[in-house]
Amino acid sequence: MKLTVLGNNGPYPAAGSACSGYLLQSGTTNVLIDCGNGVLSNMQKIISIDKLDAVILTHLHSDHVSDMYVLKYAIQLRRKRGLYDKLLRVYAPAEPSEEYERLDVKDAFELGAITDDTQLAIGDIKFSFLRMKHPYTDYAVSAECAGKSSFTRETRPGPTGWSLSQRARIC
Ligand SMILES: [Zn+2]
Repeated sequence: MKLTVLGNNGPYPAAGSACSGYLLQSGTTNVLIDCGNGVLSNMQKIISIDKLDAVILTHLHSDHVSDMYVLKYAIQLRRKRGLYDKLLRVYAPAEPSEEYERLDVKDAFELGAITDDTQLAIGDIKFSFLRMKHPYTDYAVSAECAGKSSFTRETRPGPTGWSLSQRARIC
């Protein structure tokens, strides 16, 4: 199991940096967690878009999802050219509904809602979710493979309002 930080800036990227995105890999399984500005470019330094099995979005703020709106072009073009014959699985909280509906791109993504009870098996990685305090519905993600790995995301209120801390670990 390997976790690569593709970007962790927010709410906008510094020069040469990227917003939130984490590539989780195990065996032949590749899962992207969050897809903010610059993440798609950084991910392709490691794997091609064709190798991606699924995308999990922790919440629908733009710094966590904005590259989804260009990833859809990549999938649509590949499908038109006969290079890609499936839809990319995308999982995200269903709120706010207008943001969720923007992700429902029928010829690119197969969209599924994350709820408190959601459990996913993608390749040999099992995912579960814990709801966090955040202005948008937001989930920490736990990923397990042979009982060995996990990833978490945290948000918490700070003295000047909401502050954000992010933590990724393999244990
Ligand atoms: Zn946020």
